[in-house]
Amino acid sequence: MGHRQQVLPMAKFLSWTEAREKVVSGVSPLTPIPRKTLEAGGFVLAETVNAVEAMPPFDNSAMDGFGVLASDVKAASVSQPIQLEVVDNLPAGKDARVTIRSGQAARVMTGAPIPPGVDLIVPVEHTNFWIEEERRSRIPKDPEDAKRLFVSQGFPSGTHIRKAGESVAKGSPFMEAGHHIQGASLGLLLSVGVDSVSVYPRPRVGVLSTGDELVPPGEPLAPGQIRDSNRIALLHRLRGLGFDACDLGLVHDKAATLRERIESALPDIDFLITSGGVSVGDKDFTRQVLCDMGEVEAYAVRVKPGKPQVFGHIQGKPVFGLPGNPVSSLVVFDQFVLPGLKKMAGYPHYYPLQFQATLRSPIKRKGGRTEFVRVHLETHEGQWVAKSTGPQGSGVLSSMTKANGYAMIPEDVGSLEPGSPVTCQWIERE
Ligand code: AMP
Ligand code: MG
Repeated sequence: MGHRQQVLPMAKFLSWTEAREKVVSGVSPLTPIPRKTLEAGGFVLAETVNAVEAMPPFDNSAMDGFGVLASDVKAASVSQPIQLEVVDNLPAGKDARVTIRSGQAARVMTGAPIPPGVDLIVPVEHTNFWIEEERRSRIPKDPEDAKRLFVSQGFPSGTHIRKAGESVAKGSPFMEAGHHIQGASLGLLLSVGVDSVSVYPRPRVGVLSTGDELVPPGEPLAPGQIRDSNRIALLHRLRGLGFDACDLGLVHDKAATLRERIESALPDIDFLITSGGVSVGDKDFTRQVLCDMGEVEAYAVRVKPGKPQVFGHIQGKPVFGLPGNPVSSLVVFDQFVLPGLKKMAGYPHYYPLQFQATLRSPIKRKGGRTEFVRVHLETHEGQWVAKSTGPQGSGVLSSMTKANGYAMIPEDVGSLEPGSPVTCQWIERE
């Protein structure tokens, strides 16, 4: 199936947002799968989860102290403490059996169950035990002392008691579809007895680099050759962002080899990324091969860096041709490919958040293209400031390594002086 008519060099110029929408609208979330909660970190929930158990599962103490009847200690003060008899001692993990009656108290530790009868936990700080505690190592313990409690302050009924289900009620929907499961989410899911969840699979992304001049890392360089760095950079970035990346190797600029490599890789992947060969150079085969292999389009985007791009579907699988310049390949990945991969992985929001910062270094430009300037974002006197990380050429990878953000300069904006407001994005960390 040939689509040569669509391969006219730079025939189409899309805006930044049109081009990223093209990718996002060309992909769908993957079919959800069940997954053990213990192994679901980093995935996105495909359905709302209901609590199997309550959290906390029983009424328990929020403090180290004494379980008492609030009415007993209402009038307590430092000058006129109320005396109670300690009849039980409950560390966390023990069941509360003894009912506490008027005139009695139970020693409780944080997390211990609330004994029957108790409606108030008096923190140890408001009892004679606070002093005892401090002296504990110095004075021999009289068992009778351990029973004699003096409370020096009253509190309303219910104080320092965590009620069963107050955090999550049993059976309640507590985590929504689209939630990205992180450490705290795993903690909560496991706390309420959810052992398995339905999640979107991680897209499996194949990465291959193309270019006759490229040499795999570690091999000697002949004159005119350069190292294939994009593939390794992209694979690491993908894995660090939670995708399942598959190294499809390096293909020299030979149409047949490239075609074979893609054919054999496609069944095992959800998304194909190629690097290099999408521009208008004589040897830019990649673009032609991708366009010939499926419903794939080559187009130019009014962005800097990363003007030439290729996107479409081969055998129903989305494919994206990144430009070969090392900086362009990473910027185009972040701005155009990552939103699509996030959609496939089930994230409800796939575009990067943007915020205002103040520019600290001048930006010289003509305008006409949306530019993603690599910047280091930091705070100065409580405000975000953005400093250019150095020369912004599309081959200058060092300015990318120093950047933690992009300053996004719109098409219709020309040169900017320090002090100008700029819209910025974080570079999502691996
Ligand atoms: P291309 O997009 O193939 O025209 O390549 C543009 C520039 O990026 C050329 O200078 C290439 O040598 C360089 N380049 C292409 N692919 C890679 C790669 N995988 N790693 C590092 N540089 C590359
Ligand atoms: Mg090339």
